[in-house]
Amino acid sequence: MLVPAILYKEEIIKGMQKYFYTDDMMFETGCMDNWTPNITECPEGSQFQYAIVGNNEKLIGYLAYAVDWYASKAYNFGLFSFDRGNPLVGKDVFNKLEELINTLHRVEWRAVDGNPACRGYDRFIKRYNGNKHILKDCIKDKNGNYHDDIIYEIVKGGGVIEDVCEWKSAHNGEFIKNPHTNRLCSNEPSMKNVYCNTCGKKIKAVE
Ligand SMILES: [Zn+2]
Repeated sequence: MLVPAILYKEEIIKGMQKYFYTDDMMFETGCMDNWTPNITECPEGSQFQYAIVGNNEKLIGYLAYAVDWYASKAYNFGLFSFDRGNPLVGKDVFNKLEELINTLHRVEWRAVDGNPACRGYDRFIKRYNGNKHILKDCIKDKNGNYHDDIIYEIVKGGGVIEDVCEWKSAHNGEFIKNPHTNRLCSNEPSMKNVYCNTCGKKIKAVE
């Protein structure tokens, strides 16, 4: 359940401070800085800050975003889970995203590659025919490994789910594979808007 974050302000801040200097904090900020949200007594009309509350009113997460009412978009999302693996966090977040997609023109959020939440985001944008933009090696973690910065977007009107044939990418995206024959085909930019030579649907290259 989502309730105003101000009701759990201290717990949210403390909960996040426990994750300072960890990868979880890096997934939140997209850099090596520590961060806690500025939870306001009475947020402005464009700011939304929620505590995600599970059974027995226990704090399990924090969700925030901004709305640009003129552009009709939700953006600048922040999500933090205090109870790893609790499916109630995802349920509340995806219900809220669904509500926003149904009422606004567009919804956009970012994630750092390697964040376990990305699997859920990938499924979600697939369902809503959204886009995933990948900025390669944008972030470097404390062990020296690079992570991609991922931007997800769902735009109303772009939301017609096309009947596509999914060809899996192979050899680091150099080839894509016909799922019917398992035959590889080189993955050129010109392969966009090309139709599957087995089933006739438009080819969609997937990871
Ligand atoms: Zn096909």
